[in-house]
Amino acid sequence: MEHLLEIIYLISSITFVIGLKMIGNPNTARNGNLIAAVGMVMAIAATLIFHEGEVAPIIYILIFGAIAVGTIAGWMTAKKVQMTQMPELVSLFNGMGGACAALIGLIEFHHNVGDPVAISTIVAGMVIGSVSFSGSMIAFMKLNGTMRKAIRLPKYNILNTIIMIGIVAFGVYIVMSGTHDETMVYLLFAVALAYGVLFVIPIGGADMPVVISLLNSFTGLAAAFGGFLYGNMVMLTGGILVGSAGTILTFAMCNAMNRPLKNVIFGAFGEGAAAGSGTQIEGSIKEVGPMDVAIMMNYASRVIVVPGYGLAVAQAQHVIHELEELLEGRGVSVKYAVHPVAGRMPGHMNVLLAESNVEYDKLVEMDDINPEFPTTDVVFVVGANDVVNPAAHNDPSSPIYGMPILDVENAKQVVVNKRSMKPGYAGIENELFFHDNTSMLFGDAKAAITKLVAEIKTL
Ligand code: NDP
Repeated sequence: MEHLLEIIYLISSITFVIGLKMIGNPNTARNGNLIAAVGMVMAIAATLIFHEGEVAPIIYILIFGAIAVGTIAGWMTAKKVQMTQMPELVSLFNGMGGACAALIGLIEFHHNVGDPVAISTIVAGMVIGSVSFSGSMIAFMKLNGTMRKAIRLPKYNILNTIIMIGIVAFGVYIVMSGTHDETMVYLLFAVALAYGVLFVIPIGGADMPVVISLLNSFTGLAAAFGGFLYGNMVMLTGGILVGSAGTILTFAMCNAMNRPLKNVIFGAFGEGAAAGSGTQIEGSIKEVGPMDVAIMMNYASRVIVVPGYGLAVAQAQHVIHELEELLEGRGVSVKYAVHPVAGRMPGHMNVLLAESNVEYDKLVEMDDINPEFPTTDVVFVVGANDVVNPAAHNDPSSPIYGMPILDVENAKQVVVNKRSMKPGYAGIENELFFHDNTSMLFGDAKAAITKLVAEIKTL
């Protein structure tokens, strides 16, 4: 029996690895997710069937009750959620993972007093899980707009660092003293929760992607500690995979945002955003209609589309694909320039465009596409703003200064589609809209591109 359980755990772990690998490509992501989910169901079912020792019936009732509540709530939320709300959902689910790890720590403490290895695992998992839970809840509120402004207490980075050191010291004390006193653990739990809140509230503007992936890696790590505590291989592998994938993503996001990771961890993160909301821009904009853009594109030889958050809001992924096929049919080369933090979650644009069957090799990453802009006739920026803001290069007072951007300004013509002159996520103005070679096509992306397609068909 015991071997059978281990074999099922091994198979489940393999499904996680295969699933994770497949999630890396939009064409296989859906199946990858499904394979990993089947592995998880197998692991849970096998644990319930083949576990060691007697379990009271009430425990089964509690377990199946919790599974039913979790499944129904998760299923209904995931079914209802809009694509643009996905990052909030990811944050919420990530927070739940952290909460589980923290609760495991609280429950298991008194069973393991006297075993320093187990207690240190419990304390580490509980602290990291608690920080991940409360931090993810704040990230959730920031992403859904409930908490728009960054809250910065006086000397918040010093305060946060002191609290972090305090938590580590308190944790070490609990382990070393071998205390039986559970109030100590609850106190540590409360301080860790508070730290999660204080860690995320000062972060504002365009800096959230790094925090989200960092919290994700925290949850993975916390779950891995749980797996180690129980000697449960599948929990350990799952946790390690989430933790390492989250860490790799954190570094990728740091590179994309040009932020050193030490700034994230030691609280100096987001300080740039506190410096001000960028320089006021003087000048005028040039507004164009769908027919003007249709002529520009129809007679171009190279067009690059820059998708952003607004494309997702408008659900314009199908119509943009139609535009691409129409232009390609007329001999115009069309590519998509994908910025790593475009949208509201890592990979947002890739997922969105894969949904409308845009060929994967048409999506070109920032570093590869930037040298192509000078030889491009028309760049069509659809609902993107921060990721094409030249202030990142030339305005040291800007909160996004230093962030690598898509250098669309180097193209011959730039057409920007958005509904108004309102700023993007970072809340700053964009001088690109005032450049001589930029034209503004105002309107909801789906409606505007539908008109554009209709106009091109008349040419
Ligand atoms: P931005 O948020 O900078 O800009 C989006 C633009 O889309 C807005 O200026 C808005 O202007 C426009 N828009 C909104 N709705 C529509 C619509 N229906 N039709 C047409 N336009 C629309 O998006 P970017 O993708 O350029 O940048 C992403 C930002 O989000 C970055 O700052 C990034 O750091 C941050 N972020 C990214 C995460 C990630 O992991 N990818 C996670 C969290 C934050 P208007 O209102 O005038 O239409």
